[in-house]
Amino acid sequence: MQRFVLLCLILSSFGTFAQRLPEVARPVNYQLTFAPDFEKNIFSGQEAISIQVLKSTSEIKLNSAEIDFLSASITSRGVTQEAKVSLDKANQMATLAVQKMLAPGSATIQIHFNGLLNDELRGFYLGKDEQGRKYAVTQFEATDARRAFPSFDEPAYKATFDITVIADKKHVALSNARILSDRPGPSEGKHTVKFATSAKMSSYLVAIAVGEFEAVEGEADGIPIRVWGTPGKKQLGSFALEAAESFLHYYDQYFGIKYPFEKLDVIGLPDFEAGAMENTGLITFREALLLIDEPHASVALKRDVADVLAHEMAHMWFGDLVTMQWWDDIWLNEGFATWMSPKAVAAWKPEWHVELESVRDTIHSQDVDSLQNTRPIEQAADTPEQIQELFDGIAYGKTAAVLRMLEAYIGPDSFRDGVDQYLHKHAYSNATATDFWSTLAKASGKPVDRVMPTFVQQAGLPFVAVHAQCENGATRVTLRQQRYLFDRERFNRDESKELWRVPVCLKGGGASSAEKTCGLLTGRESRFDLPGCGSWTLANAGAEGFYRSGYEAANVRGLTADIEKALTPAERIMLLGDVWASVRVGRKPVTDYLTLAEGLQHETSRPVMTELLLRVEFIEHYLTSDQDQPQYSAWVRQLLAPSIQRLGFKAKPGESEEEKQLRSRILEVAGGTGQDPEVLAWARKWTNEALSSDAALDNTIAGTALSLAARDGDAALYDRLLTRQKQAKTPEEFYVYMGALLSFRDPKLIELNLNRSLSPEVRSQDAIGVISDLMELPTGGALAWNFIQAHWEELAKIGGGFAGAGLVDATSTFCSAEQGEQVREFFGVHKVPSAERGLQQSLERIQNCTDLKSQESPRLAQWLNDREVRAGQ
Ligand SMILES: [Zn+2]
Repeated sequence: MQRFVLLCLILSSFGTFAQRLPEVARPVNYQLTFAPDFEKNIFSGQEAISIQVLKSTSEIKLNSAEIDFLSASITSRGVTQEAKVSLDKANQMATLAVQKMLAPGSATIQIHFNGLLNDELRGFYLGKDEQGRKYAVTQFEATDARRAFPSFDEPAYKATFDITVIADKKHVALSNARILSDRPGPSEGKHTVKFATSAKMSSYLVAIAVGEFEAVEGEADGIPIRVWGTPGKKQLGSFALEAAESFLHYYDQYFGIKYPFEKLDVIGLPDFEAGAMENTGLITFREALLLIDEPHASVALKRDVADVLAHEMAHMWFGDLVTMQWWDDIWLNEGFATWMSPKAVAAWKPEWHVELESVRDTIHSQDVDSLQNTRPIEQAADTPEQIQELFDGIAYGKTAAVLRMLEAYIGPDSFRDGVDQYLHKHAYSNATATDFWSTLAKASGKPVDRVMPTFVQQAGLPFVAVHAQCENGATRVTLRQQRYLFDRERFNRDESKELWRVPVCLKGGGASSAEKTCGLLTGRESRFDLPGCGSWTLANAGAEGFYRSGYEAANVRGLTADIEKALTPAERIMLLGDVWASVRVGRKPVTDYLTLAEGLQHETSRPVMTELLLRVEFIEHYLTSDQDQPQYSAWVRQLLAPSIQRLGFKAKPGESEEEKQLRSRILEVAGGTGQDPEVLAWARKWTNEALSSDAALDNTIAGTALSLAARDGDAALYDRLLTRQKQAKTPEEFYVYMGALLSFRDPKLIELNLNRSLSPEVRSQDAIGVISDLMELPTGGALAWNFIQAHWEELAKIGGGFAGAGLVDATSTFCSAEQGEQVREFFGVHKVPSAERGLQQSLERIQNCTDLKSQESPRLAQWLNDREVRAGQ
């Protein structure tokens, strides 16, 4: 389930106004001892921070939140002075004041404190496994290290860490560095685990995990690797271990610097808010995204596990070794890791075609960027809420897509050389955007430093209109750029001032159609010449550019006719995205998209088909009325018939994982949107057999079959699935059953699901996902929205407040002016500080969808009608 793939999405505190620490002192080393107390749900801490005082001062400010100071002192030049501690809760700071001035130079701060093992999935928090066994673990990014120890909690204050944990005898303790010693004591029933001095790193990357964990062990290039889980789940780590070994070796080869942190631990946790977190040498994961039963796991989940792991491991270089100077450049971390991970996964499993997923990700990140309320990649942020809001589709998807374009523009070798120089220059330190592109400009000799600012500092993306004509046996192509916006009226007024320096590649349908012609579109309009003439010109050849192309009708007809033989799968995905983008702004009717879809009826590439089906479902959801729904379903059945005939209902011996997964997705849409009676009957039969057997599910097909059976299922089926969910043998099975339970469309069962979301049966990390899923059901939107409003107080408190932003985002699935007004009104009163931009985006999306519906629904209805008339003749 995709909603778990929220990489390093860290959501934190409410109602605070961070400001930066004054530049009075810098940390050099932290000596930290933690003793968690699982009876009282607290921990005690001892801390000695070696600092460099930069200018004479009588006070030092540290970040601190929910920390109870027991004592504090500062030693400088052999003199120890007690420090008076004053707390500034609003700014999450503590000021340590001494009587005599501290002179510039070395000093040490000593603090003894207590903190909370909270249940908010941030800071140092408590989790529980299915048997109720407690564990304690940290989650600090972006601004929550301060909940575990008073600290210089800003990314530029890198230091080394010497960590000691006093744990119960039965508990394992893990941290960033390897274990130096593990001795019994200090009291009966305890042991003391001392870790080696860590590499120099930012506070948000510090990590500790304490609990009854078990691991499978391996190694790559001499680096020990362990994959951990709670008791009984150890064997589920084998798949991730094999992946980690492959990725570490791949990165060692790709980067000029070998894995920089002595060992790698990866741990799956039952309670974890984000997808995963790249703590130096100790990566933490949501367990469903790490611990899988490989023989039964769905292909999609295997790919997700690999992708997230490769992403987090890439952070060991991009993020951990070299860290952004401040959060405004978080893209240097997230974009790089997102861009890098498909390379490592493709090297391990080329048959999964993750390079095509990158094209799909590009298109989807363009969706966010098509809003008036998007943001530039580089974005100022000061408060924890503003910082939190930066972990969005722009930081991950858009940045990765822009880096992909840049790599294609300067060539993979130059790119890699530049990255290498950048990493060497800033290792164990921090860097800014300018550091990055000036290094790449130097390495490539190309104007990277002039191209990149147009994509990084400017919000939105270019729409490149293509006009091609044949002159004297050559194709003269005029490209014209303007900012793309979903807001059709604003877009068509074409008043945008923005200009990008766009690396473009073209290919034409002439004699040498395989050849690409590449160049830079710099002004509003540029001309390119292609040898030969043909019936079409493709404006994003190779599908590596971050722009949308607008084609004239004859060009689209030419492309559609040649689509399977002349366009690569990547280009087909991009073309689908481009035609859809033209539909969104009224430049093409939605029926042009359906015609293009018909041209892909025999498509066998899973990613191309998956991209197409996403819009096929969207059109059903938003653009069809009850009246034309049966006609649209009939069209979908016809569209998918060749695929179903080719793939059948059952896996064939020796077929690829891609085919297995494609079958599952085709059946899902044929049964759902297509209402195919044969598929629905198959799903019910499959479900009955599965529920009458104790065998483990084949999860590639199970999600589809169970969910289709559940759509029109009754309370008795609901109960049977719920019982199964409680007996699930793996995290994946648990979520497959959960997905099925959330597919029931009976309003009574939707109500039941809504109420369960706030009960102890649903972990707090899953509550928002449950409500968001229900919101997308045709019968669920209004019920879920009423539920959110009625239970807002409770929902807003989940996990220290991370839920709010997710719920604001969930409202973006609405598609009427009335609903938009309700959302505006409700969140106008019930403010969510970490979703200020998010709210504007949701409102804009609702408005765009409403507008699209008013424009395209009548056209679609007419087309379906004409089609039926034609078929009847
Ligand atoms: Zn990340």
